[in-house]
Amino acid sequence: MQIAKTITEIRACVSQARAAGKTVGFVPTMGALHVGHVSLIKAAAERCDFVVVSIFVNPTQFGPGEDFEKYPRPLDKDLAICEESGVDAVFAPSPAEMYPRQNLTWVTVEKVSEPLCGRFRPGHFRGVATVCAKLFNVVGPNAAFFGQKDAQQVAVIQRMVADLNMPLEIVVCPTVREPDGLATSSRNQYLSPQERKDATVIYRALQRSAELIREGKAAAAEITRYMGEVLRQVPALRIEYVSIVDAESLDDLRRVEGKVLVAVAARLGSTRLIDNIVVDATAK
Ligand code: AMP
Repeated sequence: MQIAKTITEIRACVSQARAAGKTVGFVPTMGALHVGHVSLIKAAAERCDFVVVSIFVNPTQFGPGEDFEKYPRPLDKDLAICEESGVDAVFAPSPAEMYPRQNLTWVTVEKVSEPLCGRFRPGHFRGVATVCAKLFNVVGPNAAFFGQKDAQQVAVIQRMVADLNMPLEIVVCPTVREPDGLATSSRNQYLSPQERKDATVIYRALQRSAELIREGKAAAAEITRYMGEVLRQVPALRIEYVSIVDAESLDDLRRVEGKVLVAVAARLGSTRLIDNIVVDATAK
Protein backbone atom coordinates (compact mmCIF):
# COMPACT_ATOMS: atom_id res chain seq x y z
CA MET A 1 0.00 0.00 0.00
CA GLN A 2 1.33 3.42 -0.94
CA ILE A 3 1.01 6.34 1.50
CA ALA A 4 0.99 9.81 -0.01
CA LYS A 5 1.13 12.99 2.05
CA THR A 6 1.30 15.42 -0.83
CA ILE A 7 -0.79 16.13 -3.90
CA THR A 8 2.21 15.46 -6.14
CA GLU A 9 2.72 12.03 -4.56
CA ILE A 10 -0.90 10.87 -4.81
CA ARG A 11 -1.10 12.12 -8.41
CA ALA A 12 1.99 10.04 -9.22
CA CYS A 13 0.41 6.91 -7.63
CA VAL A 14 -2.82 7.36 -9.56
CA SER A 15 -1.00 8.11 -12.85
CA GLN A 16 0.91 4.86 -12.51
CA ALA A 17 -2.31 2.90 -11.94
CA ARG A 18 -3.93 4.65 -14.91
CA ALA A 19 -0.92 3.87 -17.11
CA ALA A 20 -1.41 0.20 -16.20
CA GLY A 21 -5.00 0.50 -17.49
CA LYS A 22 -6.63 0.44 -14.05
CA THR A 23 -9.88 2.12 -13.05
CA VAL A 24 -9.72 4.20 -9.88
CA GLY A 25 -12.20 4.08 -6.98
CA PHE A 26 -12.02 6.76 -4.29
CA VAL A 27 -13.25 6.75 -0.69
CA PRO A 28 -12.98 10.17 1.03
CA THR A 29 -12.91 9.95 4.84
CA MET A 30 -11.91 11.93 7.90
CA GLY A 31 -10.21 8.85 9.39
CA ALA A 32 -10.98 7.16 12.74
CA LEU A 33 -11.99 4.35 10.43
CA HIS A 34 -14.66 1.82 11.39
CA VAL A 35 -16.70 -0.90 9.70
CA GLY A 36 -18.81 1.71 7.88
CA HIS A 37 -15.71 3.04 6.13
CA VAL A 38 -14.51 -0.51 5.42
CA SER A 39 -17.81 -1.27 3.66
CA LEU A 40 -17.12 1.65 1.29
CA ILE A 41 -13.58 0.37 0.67
CA LYS A 42 -14.96 -3.11 -0.15
CA ALA A 43 -17.55 -1.62 -2.51
CA ALA A 44 -14.80 0.38 -4.24
CA ALA A 45 -12.59 -2.72 -4.56
CA GLU A 46 -15.46 -4.67 -6.13
CA ARG A 47 -16.03 -2.06 -8.81
CA CYS A 48 -12.58 -0.60 -9.41
CA ASP A 49 -9.06 -1.94 -9.94
CA PHE A 50 -7.23 0.63 -7.79
CA VAL A 51 -8.65 1.96 -4.50
CA VAL A 52 -7.60 5.29 -3.02
CA VAL A 53 -8.70 6.33 0.50
CA SER A 54 -8.21 9.87 1.70
CA ILE A 55 -7.84 10.62 5.40
CA PHE A 56 -8.29 14.31 6.02
CA VAL A 57 -10.07 16.10 8.86
CA ASN A 58 -11.27 19.00 6.77
CA PRO A 59 -11.16 22.23 8.80
CA THR A 60 -13.51 24.13 6.47
CA GLN A 61 -16.50 21.91 7.25
CA PHE A 62 -16.34 22.52 11.01
CA GLY A 63 -18.03 25.55 12.52
CA PRO A 64 -16.78 27.59 15.48
CA GLY A 65 -17.24 25.58 18.69
CA GLU A 66 -17.53 22.26 16.84
CA ASP A 67 -15.20 19.29 17.41
CA PHE A 68 -12.43 19.98 14.85
CA GLU A 69 -9.69 20.06 17.50
CA LYS A 70 -10.85 16.99 19.41
CA TYR A 71 -11.84 14.92 16.34
CA PRO A 72 -9.96 11.58 16.68
CA ARG A 73 -6.87 11.17 14.46
CA PRO A 74 -5.55 7.62 15.01
CA LEU A 75 -3.46 7.61 11.82
CA ASP A 76 -1.41 4.45 12.45
CA LYS A 77 -4.51 2.41 13.28
CA ASP A 78 -6.26 3.82 10.20
CA LEU A 79 -3.35 2.87 7.97
CA ALA A 80 -3.44 -0.70 9.38
CA ILE A 81 -7.19 -0.93 8.62
CA CYS A 82 -6.60 0.34 5.08
CA GLU A 83 -3.78 -2.18 4.54
CA GLU A 84 -5.95 -5.08 5.83
CA SER A 85 -8.87 -3.99 3.67
CA GLY A 86 -6.80 -4.06 0.49
CA VAL A 87 -6.49 -0.32 -0.15
CA ASP A 88 -3.90 0.49 -2.84
CA ALA A 89 -3.08 4.07 -1.85
CA VAL A 90 -3.86 6.36 1.08
CA PHE A 91 -3.83 10.12 0.67
CA ALA A 92 -3.29 11.74 4.09
CA PRO A 93 -2.47 15.40 3.49
CA SER A 94 -1.92 18.11 6.10
CA PRO A 95 -4.32 21.08 6.24
CA ALA A 96 -1.51 23.23 4.75
CA GLU A 97 -1.21 20.85 1.79
CA MET A 98 -4.93 21.13 1.02
CA TYR A 99 -5.26 24.83 1.89
CA PRO A 100 -1.84 26.42 1.24
CA ARG A 101 -3.27 29.92 1.09
CA GLN A 102 -6.45 31.70 2.11
CA ASN A 103 -9.18 29.86 0.22
CA LEU A 104 -11.17 32.20 -1.99
CA THR A 105 -12.99 29.67 -4.15
CA TRP A 106 -15.93 27.83 -2.64
CA VAL A 107 -18.53 25.42 -3.93
CA THR A 108 -22.00 26.25 -2.67
CA VAL A 109 -24.76 23.84 -3.59
CA GLU A 110 -27.91 25.84 -3.09
CA LYS A 111 -31.21 24.46 -1.75
CA VAL A 112 -30.08 20.91 -0.88
CA SER A 113 -27.50 22.32 1.56
CA GLU A 114 -30.09 24.40 3.38
CA PRO A 115 -32.58 22.16 5.28
CA LEU A 116 -31.84 19.49 7.92
CA CYS A 117 -28.19 19.73 9.08
CA GLY A 118 -27.74 22.89 7.00
CA ARG A 119 -29.89 24.79 9.48
CA PHE A 120 -27.76 23.69 12.44
CA ARG A 121 -24.31 23.72 10.83
CA PRO A 122 -24.08 26.87 8.72
CA GLY A 123 -21.23 26.60 6.20
CA HIS A 124 -20.79 22.87 6.78
CA PHE A 125 -21.89 21.72 3.32
CA ARG A 126 -19.93 24.51 1.62
CA GLY A 127 -16.84 23.04 3.30
CA VAL A 128 -17.82 19.49 2.35
CA ALA A 129 -18.56 20.34 -1.29
CA THR A 130 -15.36 22.39 -1.62
CA VAL A 131 -13.08 19.73 -0.16
CA CYS A 132 -14.73 16.99 -2.24
CA ALA A 133 -14.30 19.08 -5.41
CA LYS A 134 -10.62 19.56 -4.51
CA LEU A 135 -10.12 15.87 -3.70
CA PHE A 136 -11.85 14.82 -6.93
CA ASN A 137 -9.52 17.16 -8.85
CA VAL A 138 -6.47 15.79 -7.04
CA VAL A 139 -7.30 12.08 -7.32
CA GLY A 140 -9.28 12.03 -10.57
CA PRO A 141 -11.27 8.87 -9.78
CA ASN A 142 -13.75 7.02 -12.03
CA ALA A 143 -16.05 6.58 -9.04
CA ALA A 144 -16.29 7.91 -5.49
CA PHE A 145 -18.03 6.01 -2.70
CA PHE A 146 -20.18 7.64 -0.02
CA GLY A 147 -22.32 6.30 2.84
CA GLN A 148 -26.08 6.70 3.02
CA LYS A 149 -25.50 7.47 6.73
CA ASP A 150 -24.75 11.05 5.63
CA ALA A 151 -27.78 11.36 3.34
CA GLN A 152 -27.63 15.13 2.92
CA GLN A 153 -23.92 14.98 2.11
CA VAL A 154 -24.77 12.44 -0.62
CA ALA A 155 -27.49 14.73 -2.02
CA VAL A 156 -25.11 17.72 -2.01
CA ILE A 157 -22.26 15.84 -3.70
CA GLN A 158 -24.52 14.23 -6.31
CA ARG A 159 -25.92 17.64 -7.20
CA MET A 160 -22.46 19.25 -7.34
CA VAL A 161 -21.17 16.50 -9.67
CA ALA A 162 -24.23 16.83 -11.92
CA ASP A 163 -24.27 20.63 -12.00
CA LEU A 164 -20.50 20.99 -12.59
CA ASN A 165 -20.23 18.07 -15.06
CA MET A 166 -17.59 16.35 -12.98
CA PRO A 167 -16.45 13.20 -14.79
CA LEU A 168 -17.03 10.59 -12.10
CA GLU A 169 -19.76 8.35 -10.77
CA ILE A 170 -21.05 8.72 -7.21
CA VAL A 171 -21.83 5.36 -5.60
CA VAL A 172 -23.97 5.34 -2.46
CA CYS A 173 -23.47 2.47 0.02
CA PRO A 174 -25.91 1.35 2.74
CA THR A 175 -25.54 2.47 6.36
CA VAL A 176 -23.62 -0.02 8.50
CA ARG A 177 -25.05 -0.46 12.01
CA GLU A 178 -24.01 -1.98 15.31
CA PRO A 179 -26.03 -5.09 16.30
CA ASP A 180 -28.35 -2.86 18.39
CA GLY A 181 -29.08 -0.62 15.41
CA LEU A 182 -26.84 2.38 16.17
CA ALA A 183 -25.19 3.59 12.97
CA THR A 184 -21.42 3.23 13.27
CA SER A 185 -19.71 6.60 13.45
CA SER A 186 -16.31 7.99 14.37
CA ARG A 187 -18.14 10.20 16.87
CA ASN A 188 -19.68 7.23 18.76
CA GLN A 189 -16.43 6.97 20.73
CA TYR A 190 -17.30 10.29 22.41
CA LEU A 191 -20.33 8.63 24.06
CA SER A 192 -20.27 7.57 27.73
CA PRO A 193 -21.52 4.01 28.40
CA GLN A 194 -24.96 5.39 29.38
CA GLU A 195 -25.12 7.68 26.33
CA ARG A 196 -24.10 4.75 24.11
CA LYS A 197 -27.13 2.81 25.42
CA ASP A 198 -29.41 5.84 25.06
CA ALA A 199 -28.23 6.42 21.47
CA THR A 200 -30.08 3.33 20.23
CA VAL A 201 -33.37 5.24 20.60
CA ILE A 202 -32.63 7.05 17.33
CA TYR A 203 -32.80 3.92 15.21
CA ARG A 204 -35.86 2.73 17.16
CA ALA A 205 -37.62 5.98 16.23
CA LEU A 206 -36.63 5.54 12.57
CA GLN A 207 -37.95 1.98 12.58
CA ARG A 208 -41.20 3.24 14.11
CA SER A 209 -41.60 5.62 11.16
CA ALA A 210 -41.11 2.75 8.70
CA GLU A 211 -43.79 0.71 10.51
CA LEU A 212 -46.22 3.62 10.45
CA ILE A 213 -45.65 4.21 6.74
CA ARG A 214 -46.13 0.50 6.03
CA GLU A 215 -49.40 0.66 8.02
CA GLY A 216 -50.55 3.35 5.61
CA LYS A 217 -50.00 6.51 7.66
CA ALA A 218 -49.23 9.32 5.24
CA ALA A 219 -49.33 12.57 7.22
CA ALA A 220 -45.69 13.50 7.85
CA ALA A 221 -46.54 15.54 10.96
CA GLU A 222 -48.33 12.57 12.53
CA ILE A 223 -45.40 10.24 11.83
CA THR A 224 -42.83 12.67 13.23
CA ARG A 225 -45.04 13.16 16.31
CA TYR A 226 -44.97 9.40 16.99
CA MET A 227 -41.21 9.43 16.44
CA GLY A 228 -40.91 12.25 18.96
CA GLU A 229 -42.73 10.08 21.51
CA VAL A 230 -40.14 7.33 21.03
CA LEU A 231 -37.21 9.77 21.20
CA ARG A 232 -38.50 11.41 24.37
CA GLN A 233 -38.15 8.06 26.17
CA VAL A 234 -34.55 9.25 26.58
CA PRO A 235 -34.84 12.57 28.44
CA ALA A 236 -31.13 13.31 27.95
CA LEU A 237 -31.56 13.37 24.15
CA ARG A 238 -31.79 16.88 22.70
CA ILE A 239 -33.54 16.64 19.35
CA GLU A 240 -32.33 19.00 16.59
CA TYR A 241 -34.72 17.78 13.92
CA VAL A 242 -37.01 14.92 12.99
CA SER A 243 -37.88 15.38 9.32
CA ILE A 244 -39.52 13.60 6.45
CA VAL A 245 -38.29 14.92 3.11
CA ASP A 246 -38.12 13.95 -0.55
CA ALA A 247 -35.15 11.58 -0.83
CA GLU A 248 -33.56 13.49 -3.72
CA SER A 249 -34.51 17.17 -3.47
CA LEU A 250 -34.71 17.09 0.36
CA ASP A 251 -37.86 19.22 0.07
CA ASP A 252 -40.10 18.99 3.13
CA LEU A 253 -43.09 16.72 2.63
CA ARG A 254 -46.52 17.07 4.18
CA ARG A 255 -47.65 13.72 2.83
CA VAL A 256 -45.48 10.65 2.51
CA GLU A 257 -45.42 9.60 -1.12
CA GLY A 258 -42.84 7.71 -3.17
CA LYS A 259 -39.30 7.43 -1.82
CA VAL A 260 -38.89 9.48 1.32
CA LEU A 261 -35.98 10.18 3.61
CA VAL A 262 -36.75 10.07 7.31
CA ALA A 263 -33.90 11.84 9.10
CA VAL A 264 -33.02 12.58 12.72
CA ALA A 265 -30.31 14.71 14.32
CA ALA A 266 -29.93 14.86 18.08
CA ARG A 267 -27.38 15.51 20.76
CA LEU A 268 -26.43 13.36 23.70
CA GLY A 269 -24.20 15.39 25.97
CA SER A 270 -21.73 17.08 23.65
CA THR A 271 -22.06 14.45 20.90
CA ARG A 272 -24.12 15.18 17.82
CA LEU A 273 -25.62 12.11 16.18
CA ILE A 274 -27.40 11.83 12.83
CA ASP A 275 -29.17 8.91 11.22
CA ASN A 276 -31.75 8.28 8.54
CA ILE A 277 -33.63 5.66 6.59
CA VAL A 278 -35.13 5.74 3.12
CA VAL A 279 -38.66 4.35 2.96
CA ASP A 280 -40.51 3.63 -0.25
CA ALA A 281 -44.10 4.51 0.58
CA THR A 282 -45.37 2.92 -2.64
CA ALA A 283 -43.90 -0.52 -1.74
CA LYS A 284 -46.28 -1.67 0.97
P1 AMP B 1 -16.45 10.46 7.64
O1 AMP B 1 -15.10 9.88 7.89
O2 AMP B 1 -17.35 10.44 8.83
O3 AMP B 1 -16.39 11.78 6.92
O4 AMP B 1 -17.15 9.47 6.61
C1 AMP B 1 -16.54 9.09 5.42
C2 AMP B 1 -17.51 8.31 4.60
O5 AMP B 1 -17.93 7.14 5.31
C3 AMP B 1 -18.79 9.10 4.28
O6 AMP B 1 -19.18 8.83 2.94
C4 AMP B 1 -19.77 8.53 5.27
O7 AMP B 1 -21.11 8.63 4.84
C5 AMP B 1 -19.33 7.09 5.32
N1 AMP B 1 -19.84 6.46 6.55
C6 AMP B 1 -19.67 6.89 7.82
N2 AMP B 1 -20.34 6.09 8.66
C7 AMP B 1 -20.94 5.14 7.92
C8 AMP B 1 -21.78 4.01 8.21
N3 AMP B 1 -22.15 3.72 9.44
N4 AMP B 1 -22.21 3.25 7.17
C9 AMP B 1 -21.84 3.55 5.89
N5 AMP B 1 -21.06 4.58 5.56
C10 AMP B 1 -20.61 5.37 6.55
